[in-house]
Amino acid sequence: MSAPLIQPVKGMNDVLPAEIARWQWLETVARELLGAYAYDEMRVPVVEQTDLFKRAIGEFTDVVEKEMYSFEDKGGERLTLRPEATAGMVRAMISNGLLRGARHKVWCIGPMFRHEKPQKGRFRQFHQIDVEAVGFAGPDIDAELIALSAAFWRRLGIDRVRLQINSLGTSESRRVYRETLTRYFQDHFAKLDADSQRRLEGNPLRILDSKNPDMQSIIAGAPLLPEHLDAESTQHFEALRGMLDSLGIAYEVNPRLVRGLDYYSRTVFEWITDALGAQDAVCSGGRYDGLITQLGGEATPAIGFAMGVERVVALIEQAGTAPAVRTADVYVVVQGESSMGLAMRLADDLRRSSAGRRVELNLGGGNFKAQFRRADRSGAPLAIVFGEDELARGVVQLKPMRDGAGDPAEVKIDNAVSAVDQWLSTQSSKNS
Ligand code: ATP
Ligand code: MG
Repeated sequence: MSAPLIQPVKGMNDVLPAEIARWQWLETVARELLGAYAYDEMRVPVVEQTDLFKRAIGEFTDVVEKEMYSFEDKGGERLTLRPEATAGMVRAMISNGLLRGARHKVWCIGPMFRHEKPQKGRFRQFHQIDVEAVGFAGPDIDAELIALSAAFWRRLGIDRVRLQINSLGTSESRRVYRETLTRYFQDHFAKLDADSQRRLEGNPLRILDSKNPDMQSIIAGAPLLPEHLDAESTQHFEALRGMLDSLGIAYEVNPRLVRGLDYYSRTVFEWITDALGAQDAVCSGGRYDGLITQLGGEATPAIGFAMGVERVVALIEQAGTAPAVRTADVYVVVQGESSMGLAMRLADDLRRSSAGRRVELNLGGGNFKAQFRRADRSGAPLAIVFGEDELARGVVQLKPMRDGAGDPAEVKIDNAVSAVDQWLSTQSSKNS
């Protein structure tokens, strides 16, 4: 009798070898691009004090109200699996004394956790590439950061995305807007859903972010934020638009873009796609000038964005732009256990001879036919054959696996590494 199966956790995915090429490519492009824009990687814990997220993200948000994985640990501490990265990144910069008037451009990649209803493009564990520029008041950094996000799409060959921007103004101008908005929603109180009725007290801006289809017509009639912008925020926004124009980055101004987290001020932006169905946001960000003081640090302006890795990977898959899954370069066929020691040594020499070369040694024996079948499946263009007769003569066979790639050749074991190096480099120059 076999033991009962243990099910995976709902909404949490395994990334299998067949998909990994797209993930790795995105990660490589991220490292290169972020380096090119002079950002440094940082790594912060997946678990933080629950209070960090409550204070940073805001009590009246979907994330804090409904989506957090919070628990008490064995020592009685209230902890939460991070639902987003900015709060932890900022906490880390404060905890480590990195701010103190200094400027930092940092990023991280990793899993985030939200207890949402799992569906296509929406998971309970998902990943973000998170980018933060701290100590910059903008609007130049706003433009550069948006340009950086745009560079991702160019590098990844993704074109079904478009950019929306908006300005939320300062907390003062938002306060005035809040009052206008509160009056408007109070007039329509009976038509609000339960979430929105509750949020009307706490933060009416959140109502604009509602995904409930029944709420959309009331939201569409709501007074707009840009009419309430303060002069400085208007100037900041105009300057940003000017820079985006000179960079040739197309955008739409969406006056209803408020973003799901409370800490934003002034510039907010979102890249959306029509290629993924209902889950259309692939990268979202904005300025959060007030967050750092809110978390006990000294006043420091900052801006950042988070890219949803699963959604971007899905776009990469659709665009078909990722490099192929890596296959073996050489397969080592071995006849007889007595040859194994030598074959292992040669396989290691081949691996050392060229970094990144993929050498698969036949393990677990098998006759020639079975071993060549495996060699075929490995995708290797070349097999090295350790036959007992050949070994007795101190040679191995190099056997091209594809038609038209040349005839088998015998080489001395001592020359095998350089013969393989040469064979593979001739092949790759033929193919390029
Ligand atoms: P959405 O409107 O789709 O709920 P959001 O506004 O909650 O997104 P952010 O908190 O801004 O999203 O997170 C940044 C990005 O992370 C999103 O643009 C999206 O690509 C991705 N993302 C957010 N939540 C999920 C999730 N549950 N599953 C997969 N990706 C997600
Ligand atoms: Mg959300």
